[in-house]
Formats: sequence, structure tokens, C-alpha cells
Amino acid sequence: MAKRTVTLIPGDGIGPECTDATKKIIEAAGVQIEWEVRHAGESVFKAGVASGVPRDTMDSIKKTRLVLKGPLGTPIGHGEKSANVTLRKLYETYANIRPVREFPGVTTPYSGRGIDLVVVRENVEDLYAGIEYMQTPGVAETLKLISRKGSEKIVRMAFEFARSEGRKKVHVATKANIMKFSEGMMKRTLEDVAKEYPDIQSEHIIVDNCAHQLVKKPEQFDVICMTNMNGDILSDLTSALVGGLGFAPSANLGNEVAIFEAVHGSAPKYAGKNVINPTAVLLSGVAMLRYMGEFEAASKIENAVMVTLESGCITRDILGDAKGVPTTKYTDTVIANLGKKSSKWKVREYKAIKMPNVDLRQDFVSAASRKTVGVDLFIESAKKPEVLGPSVEKLIEGSSVSLKMIDSRGTKVYPATGAITDNTDAFRCRFMAKSGEFTDAQLFDVVSRVAKEHKWTHIEKLHEFDGKLSYTKAQGED
Ligand code: NAP
Repeated sequence: MAKRTVTLIPGDGIGPECTDATKKIIEAAGVQIEWEVRHAGESVFKAGVASGVPRDTMDSIKKTRLVLKGPLGTPIGHGEKSANVTLRKLYETYANIRPVREFPGVTTPYSGRGIDLVVVRENVEDLYAGIEYMQTPGVAETLKLISRKGSEKIVRMAFEFARSEGRKKVHVATKANIMKFSEGMMKRTLEDVAKEYPDIQSEHIIVDNCAHQLVKKPEQFDVICMTNMNGDILSDLTSALVGGLGFAPSANLGNEVAIFEAVHGSAPKYAGKNVINPTAVLLSGVAMLRYMGEFEAASKIENAVMVTLESGCITRDILGDAKGVPTTKYTDTVIANLGKKSSKWKVREYKAIKMPNVDLRQDFVSAASRKTVGVDLFIESAKKPEVLGPSVEKLIEGSSVSLKMIDSRGTKVYPATGAITDNTDAFRCRFMAKSGEFTDAQLFDVVSRVAKEHKWTHIEKLHEFDGKLSYTKAQGED
């Protein structure tokens, strides 16, 4: 069989030790891979490449479409963005898959309960798009953008992933009860898409209850799909349930490129000391083999890991300095155990994953009807609402728009409702057309009138799509 080429990024700190061990074990399992070694992270930042990802690494990934990556450090004072996040975003690896299962010899308060679940986390949208602004010197803003297309890709991925691993149930955990549009997008997507997967059960769960249930009864979960930040937080929680970062692999899957890496970072204090646990990177490599269709070799390695751990050959992160074995001894033992199976610790049967097929159109969702009904103009003002409100009313006197309300951080403060609020200097003024559609001419008129006395910071148009309000009301707004 022809050798498949894989871009190997050894990474920083403990990265090279982890990837060396993984490479050695994969080769010993008989898989022929041409490793194209490329760099990213600390050394690259220090060489002056602001993104942390140099051109020749990008060229290699464009060619191989497959990456095994050690952790990358973000040195303080270099680069604004993490090279890890840059890599995930550059190749639209929209799904972050983080499996956790119980391992032999790794004792936790949950041992014996058979935890075996997968977090499928959206990887490129949500608050982690990092679109941030200071509205005023004292009020910060992050945009939480969730698209229907992005939600559909990740929800379909969760179902497809469940099928490929013979799993039975997908939970979608969201905060749709509060963020009805953004988090609600994923909930509505689940309701639509689930019908196409009648062989898999599905259920929506509110994400805070999901956190509670994960600590109380984690074994009830099979696949949990979440938006980016929720998935980030809860997948760290799930890693801790089975013994921590040394056992937490991950895959970043996109339609074009797949990047396999451990969840953990470069743990620089352990670099070169031959003490770290390479299992997370190794199991990321195992997931890569399955992605490549190398099911037999993948299971052979996973079984060898089970036998090795069951025999007590475990690194110091679990057994401590006195009993933990060196990284190289652990690696050699896994190699010696290739071909052996534990009678107690089973490995799943896997099928090739069918990557979700989602329409590539940019205007993925179009409304049959649309109307702009108003505008929210955000302003900076140190005035109290009872002074600010009349001043804004006066500025728009004689125009064709009305001031519906002013709020502070989502709570209506003008006209007064009797609420007791501690306001900041960032306010939102909601203007509506007195009749008909709110035109751009009205918008420019309102902005120029208000700007005569107040600093405005940003504008949001208020739409009705398909006859439905496409903006939320403030707390206390009628
Ligand atoms: P970290 O590197 O994950 O290390 C945190 C702690 O986890 C270590 O001190 C160690 O715990 C334990 N640990 C992690 N991996 C281990 C392994 N393979 N074997 C044994 N123990 C392991 O997190 P950090 O210290 O916050 O971050 C260090 C650097 O990594 C930063 O520059 C950060 O930006 C980067 N980072 C990269 C990635 C990535 O590449 N995907 C992810 C996270 C962080 P004890 O101290 O308890 O022994």
C-alpha cells in the first residue's frame, strides 16, 4: 500500500517526546507513514512570524490535509493569537472531538462506572471567534456569532460520529433558555436534523444541568454536542473524570483538513525529563489512524495501551515520582504489547466516519420576507437615564422615528420601570420607525442627531425575518 504523507508538528515543551513516542508506536504497529516534519508555535513566534505558523507548514498541510501535532506554547510577549487556534481556524476544522473513557490502573473517584463518552465541540464560531470591543473604557463586548450552517455541520457531525463508533445517543447541551437566538440555533438545528438519524436517540439538555449530570452520573452520556465555549469548559471537566490531561486526546475535523492533537499543553517544566505521559498524543494518533481507515492498527495500539496500563506500567502523572515509569519505558512496553488484548478492557468496533455533507452556499439560510423595523444605537454617556432619555428624545424631535427605550446591559432604564439598576456608561437606545420600514436614511438621520450631544459606539439594525422579531427585547421592555 502507498505510504500516506502526514504533516508532523512536534511542538514545544513536552511535545517532541509525545510525538516521538507516538510515531514509534504507530510504526511498530505496521502503518507506513511518510512524516513531513514542520514547525509552529514558540520557535516560530521567536523567529518573528507573528501568526506562529510559517508558510512551509501551511504548504505542507495544504498538500497532506492530515496533521499530527504536539502542543504549541504561546510565549508571553510574542503573538497575539495562539498558534493552536490559528491552525484550527485556518483550515476550518469546525469539529473538535474529545473522547474520554475509563482506563485500567488510572484510579479516580469514578472508577468502575464505565465512563465512555465523547464531547463534540463546535470549534470555529461562538465567543471564541474572538471578536471583541471595548464599548467604553469600562465596558467590554464579545460577539457570540452562531450560524445555522455552523450548527448544522456540528450537529450532523455528532450524529455521524455516533454512528461511526456504534454509539446510541446524542445529547445537545445548550443555554437556549437564555440565549434563544445564538444557543437556540443549535437546539433548533438538533430538532430538524435528528429526524434524519432515526437510529440514534437524541435529547436536548440545558448546559448547566449537563455539567451537574456529568459530575453526578457521567456514565449516562454517550455523545454530547456543544457550542464552542460550553464544549471547551465541559470537555475539560470530562477529561478530569477519567484521570486528567495525560489521557485526553482530540481530533479537529473539517471537510478539508484534520488535525489530531492532545488536549494538554506543552507543560514546559517537564520538557526533556522523560517523565511525561504520551498517551493523549498517542490516542490522538490512534484517532488519526481510524480517520485514515487503518482500523486494525488503531485497535491494535489501543488494546496494547489497555494491556500496558493494566500491567501497572503507568507514568508519574498517575503513580507519582516513586512509582511512575519513564516515558520511554512506557512507550517500549506499549510496543511490546502490540498484538495483546486485555480480557477485561475492551476497545470499540469502529466504522469509517461519513463527513457531513453541508451545502457550501454562503447564503445558507434566506428569509422569504424581511423588514427592518428599527435600530439600536449604543452610546457612551455618564448621564443618569432620567437625564439621558429626555436629551435623546429632544434630539430626535420632529423626525420620523421614536425612542422606544434605553437599556443598560440588557435592562430597560428609560422610561423608568421602577427597577433598581447599577448603570454603567454604556447605554443602548432603541429607535423604531413611526410607520412602515425603517430606512437607511432614517438611520443616518438618527445617528447624526444623537451624535450632536452623545458619543455613539455601535449600531445594530432590528429586523423581522419571515414576519418574526429577529432581535430580543430588553428585560422590562414591553
Ligand atoms: P499544560 O501544558 O497542559 O500543563 C498543565 C499541567 O498538566 C502540567 O503542569 C502537568 O501537571 C499536566 N500535564 C499536561 N500534560 C501532561 C502530560 N502529557 N503528562 C503528564 N502531565 C501532564 O498547561 P499550561 O501549563 O497551562 O500551558 C503550557 C503551555 O501550553 C502554554 O504556552 C499554553 O498556551 C500551551 N497550551 C497549548 C495547547 C495546545 O497545544 N493545544 C493546549 C493548552 C495549552 P502537574 O503540574 O500537575 O504535573
